Amino acid sequence: MNIKNKETYKFQSEVKQLLHLMIHSLYSNKEIFLRELISNASDAIDKLRFKSISSPSLYQSNNLPKIQISINKAQKTLIINDNGIGMTKKDIIENLGTIAKSGTKSFLKSLENKTNDIKNELIGQFGVGFYSSFIVSDKVIVRTKFAGNKSNEGILWESQGTGEYNITNIAKKTKGTEIILFLKKEEEEFLETWRIKNIVSKYSDHITTPIEIQTYEEKSKTYIWEQINQAKALWTKNKSSISEKEYQEFYKYLTNDQNNPITWSHNHVEGTHEYISLLYIPKKAEWDIWNKENKNGLKLYVKRVYIMDNSKEFLPNYLRFIRGVIDSNNLPLNISREILQNNSITKNLKKALTKRSLKMLDTLSKNDNKKYQSFWNQFGLVLKEGPAEDNENLNLIANLLRFTSIKNNSSEQTISLKQYISKMNEKQEKIYYITSDSYISAKNSPHLELFNKKNIDVLLLSDRIDEWMMNYLVEFEGKKFQSISKEDESLNKLTEEKITNNNNIKTDMSDFIKKVKKILGEKVKSVRLTNRLTETPCIVLSDSNEMSTQMAKLFSAAGQPVPELKYIFEINPKHPLIKKISKINEQKIFEEWIKLLLEQALFAEKGNLDNPHKFIARMNKLFIQF
Ligand code: ADP
Ligand code: MG
Repeated sequence: MNIKNKETYKFQSEVKQLLHLMIHSLYSNKEIFLRELISNASDAIDKLRFKSISSPSLYQSNNLPKIQISINKAQKTLIINDNGIGMTKKDIIENLGTIAKSGTKSFLKSLENKTNDIKNELIGQFGVGFYSSFIVSDKVIVRTKFAGNKSNEGILWESQGTGEYNITNIAKKTKGTEIILFLKKEEEEFLETWRIKNIVSKYSDHITTPIEIQTYEEKSKTYIWEQINQAKALWTKNKSSISEKEYQEFYKYLTNDQNNPITWSHNHVEGTHEYISLLYIPKKAEWDIWNKENKNGLKLYVKRVYIMDNSKEFLPNYLRFIRGVIDSNNLPLNISREILQNNSITKNLKKALTKRSLKMLDTLSKNDNKKYQSFWNQFGLVLKEGPAEDNENLNLIANLLRFTSIKNNSSEQTISLKQYISKMNEKQEKIYYITSDSYISAKNSPHLELFNKKNIDVLLLSDRIDEWMMNYLVEFEGKKFQSISKEDESLNKLTEEKITNNNNIKTDMSDFIKKVKKILGEKVKSVRLTNRLTETPCIVLSDSNEMSTQMAKLFSAAGQPVPELKYIFEINPKHPLIKKISKINEQKIFEEWIKLLLEQALFAEKGNLDNPHKFIARMNKLFIQF
């Protein structure tokens, strides 16, 4: 065998960065390296099984799939061997020299300026993968042969986890991969059989391939292979035979998350569509939850055979935080991502799993409000995409939404629509809300004055998505939603009676209103008196069928053209400033005041002005008059 063909390669710079990070930040649970290597071995076996469906020659049936761990105390090595798909030379350079995962760069960037504890957690979530072997090793050797390779030659990959690695051709009879870890001096605990057994049962019990460890048997004075995992897919077991702890451990194995899930839902379904689903709600959002190409999705099995990770076809986007397994009896084994997308079985499963997920959340909200609140605080923004995406389940989703309101006295979103309705004022017909840029600006909006006075609660919405979401929420349990910054008859009813009762004010002011209209002309849609205000002299309202201010802001932030907004200008005749202005005789000064009033109202509504300098100049001019 020619050994002179040794070649040296440099790691991609991101690998170096990741290796460095890992070795210096993953101090608290080094043992996960074994979980990673076993998971790779198991993936490799799954891949071989899957590939051999289309090319049966890859699979030699006399070779049962297994993962074997052996310990060599003399050489201080830990060896993990599998008979999976193996790697070609090209594979190995790609897989163990670079990071193929999309989003690695942004992931590494997201770690900047984080504390070590947070880094530790995030790296764990990201899936540290093969490189984690360098946390405990001075040197790692990989000996591998691709299953389709009929020769007796394989590849050896070797590195000390610094800047570079070597590749050599070697003799290798068996297909699959063998990883040899040369343990660091201080990591010799991993040479103890009990320790390895312990880690395997902690992280890898649910791997469906048997994992064996080589142990010495006193009686026969020989080495024997002992199986150390259950090797039964958890989701196929009977619900009643699975403990809470087993569900939690399976979740951790599935996701690399170190936290327990908030809740889960496990179902065996029979009938035309036979499937098993096990869905989990994580405690924390993944680092890439807002990334367009976030990787989340369910792990897909067909008749217990692993097909693929992260299939997004089974849940709508607004439920992308859900993790878990779907095992279908009806999908074909040789399914590809493309076929999956246009498959009617997939569509039916998606429908069913969506309902199931929403039901799981509904149950959580009813049984454990505290846990539901923590879910909402973490994922509420994602769920708020639901009304726009999923009209069919609109009511279920609306039930799950949480809001803050005037009476809540905190920015935390804790109020359900059901709660809001149950506390509605007797004469109140609608669910009132206001959208704004921030909680503070919503809470202090002059639009709320009437509601405060009448003791009517208003939902305060200030997440960016809220305005968008409210376009899709028309009514809930027979009550219509109403933006209080828009013109609305039900509101006029509440104020009308006072204005008409107070005929004096009306006649006194009708001349005034005429004058204002003349001055403002085309700048406003109309001018009228209002009784909805107490503290504020005037306000602007959007016409009921016009684009709202918040929506216009979203459009313009997205670079979309926005039609010119024209408002209804409402004046509070009881306000001292209005009373004073209405008595000004000098036309020029009167005009300035009216323009200033409109600018004030626009400023309060939009949070900015087209021409702030003009506004300031006008104000200063009027100050001098005083
Ligand atoms: P991930 O498993 O998330 O893809 P890893 O860093 O754990 O990332 O592994 C990188 C890649 O190396 C794997 O995707 C796989 O292609 C390859 N690989 C690692 N271990 C094995 C193995 N035992 N057999 C075959 N391929 C492997
Ligand atoms: Mg891996």
